[in-house]
Amino acid sequence: MLLRGKVAVVTGGTRGIGLAIVKKYLAHGATVVLCGSRLETAEKAVAQIKAENPDAKVEGIAPDLQNAEEMEKALGAVRDKYGRLDILVNNAGISARESLYDYKPEDFEKIISLNVTSVFVGSQAAARIMKEQGGGVILNTSSMVSIYGQPSGCGYPTSKFAVNGMTKSLARELGKDNIRVNAVAPGVTNTDMVKVLPPELIKPIVSQIPLGRVGEPEEVADAFVFLASDMASYITGEILSVDGCGRS
Ligand code: NAD
Repeated sequence: MLLRGKVAVVTGGTRGIGLAIVKKYLAHGATVVLCGSRLETAEKAVAQIKAENPDAKVEGIAPDLQNAEEMEKALGAVRDKYGRLDILVNNAGISARESLYDYKPEDFEKIISLNVTSVFVGSQAAARIMKEQGGGVILNTSSMVSIYGQPSGCGYPTSKFAVNGMTKSLARELGKDNIRVNAVAPGVTNTDMVKVLPPELIKPIVSQIPLGRVGEPEEVADAFVFLASDMASYITGEILSVDGCGRS
């Protein structure tokens, strides 16, 4: 029970890594508000969780993560309903594989908007609440590609390099307000994002991973539990790799 009594918001909480974070946070005693891209998918995820655990303190919402006004309202409503906002996990993200030669500028913008702008927008709305209440934790989902790039779809690694930059900068800016800001950089993880990739792309990557396999969303979620908990009370500005050492 590392998060007993904490109130958390997790974006992209309807499936994959985000859903695993939601479940782990609930198991550790937190109240969780999960965000989906549509209310229908958010409610479906909540129903799935409640079927497994009817006592789970969880609800689903679907604000536009890129819209400052909407996020201010959504996070304000969480604070009003539950009395605080202790943890924001900026996890929602999309990836890309286009070659630079065919990459449409609007597709590049789309990925930057969700993967970077929404992290800024959510962090700003959360930090205002956290400063007022005396502290909090902001966590971002980065990626192993934020360390060494990838050979196509340059918008995705570009966005994750930006997430690392924002994580380190906000950690410096918000430390004085007792707000810790960290990121988790997953390697290849067994979610819908990876299931759509052809085996010929995944196989050579996995062959480079010393642990010899892709990661499971629950293994990534454990790092989010640790960083959100008081066990990480002196850690901020860190990008924690959870990748089976895929970098080497
Ligand atoms: P996923 O596709 O299973 O889940 C993505 C989540 O983001 C979903 O909950 C979805 O509802 C949400 N989302 C997508 N578009 C949205 C939008 N426009 N508005 C609001 N929400 C939206 O993917 P995942 O693998 O669980 O990815 C979660 C995070 O982990 C992402 O930030 C991704 O970049 C990162 N990541 C994944 C891997 C991997 O191998 N799976 C590796 C490194 C980093």
